[in-house]
Amino acid sequence: MCIFCKIIAGEIPAHKVYEDDKVLAFLDIKPVHPGHILVLPKKHAANIEEVEEVELSAIILAVKKMGALLKDRLGYEAYNIYQNNGPVAGQTVMHLHFHIIPRVANDNLNHWPVRDYTPGEAEEVLKKLTA
Ligand code: AMP
Ligand code: ZN
Repeated sequence: MCIFCKIIAGEIPAHKVYEDDKVLAFLDIKPVHPGHILVLPKKHAANIEEVEEVELSAIILAVKKMGALLKDRLGYEAYNIYQNNGPVAGQTVMHLHFHIIPRVANDNLNHWPVRDYTPGEAEEVLKKLTA
């Protein structure tokens, strides 16, 4: 059983914020800022490709609720929603989860580096994506 399934089963404690029949949300044990929340399906799915649509719908509605909670109850003015999908993308727990990360000004949680497309590159990519 994965570590998040153990939390869902009550075998490992967690600071639960929200729960319904399909979804659990609890505090990340290592927050960027206090109130950093993880939202996940109760039914194990490793990633966003595995999860069933009905579970995913419930998750995203809970994500929306958690974002509002961060603003209304904890006074944050902004937050990021992250979902690391695959180890190369930084996923360390292989049970799908969305991070709701409260933000404060100048907190150094920077966005990803960017580059420009080379001439024709975007068209090549688009051809593959839409073929
Ligand atoms: P990710 O890198 O997207 O897979 O994120 C996994 C997250 O799970 C990390 O931010 C961890 O701090 C968090 N985490 C791991 N174990 C626990 C736990 N027992 N309770 C709460 N959060 C956890
Ligand atoms: Zn699991």
